[in-house]
Amino acid sequence: MSDESQALCQICGFCCDGTLFGDARLTDADSAAAIAAAGVALSGDGEKFLQPCPAYRDGKCGLYGARFQVCRVYRCRLLSDFETGELPFEAARERIATTRAAVADVRHEMRMVPGGESLCLKALYAVMRTLEAPNRTTALLKYASLRPVLDKHFK
Ligand code: SF4
Ligand code: SF4
Repeated sequence: MSDESQALCQICGFCCDGTLFGDARLTDADSAAAIAAAGVALSGDGEKFLQPCPAYRDGKCGLYGARFQVCRVYRCRLLSDFETGELPFEAARERIATTRAAVADVRHEMRMVPGGESLCLKALYAVMRTLEAPNRTTALLKYASLRPVLDKHFK
């Protein structure tokens, strides 16, 4: 990964922090020691680790050298477009910044969900739908606007 690609991922983090995924699949190449060191929670069948990933802190992967196989190979659309030259660096950076602001806004609107900061965005949305909260409609509408952006540019 080039320095510029790394710079984009460092200001993004959506594939680590629960914005895009609630879990990610482990492979045979992932050692039990690395899994234990990460402190991740596993799915019931032990085949996936749950997100947000606890190794993601302060915009960085705390396990970078020993990160999971899926983390080594994952390229979202935005990163792929940047690496093929279809998306200039500044445009990619700006898209990340705009989307990060929207994600933060949605999480803020859903802040009354108990334990919401440790939930992935989809789980947060699922709980929010069940709550009788004054800003429920606004929060759900903002999520509905954000989801297609995430799916289009970051998956
Ligand atoms: S979602 Fe894309 S740009 Fe963001 S950290 Fe993951 S691979 Fe990098
Ligand atoms: S191990 Fe590192 S790269 Fe993989 S999800 Fe966790 S923080 Fe992200």
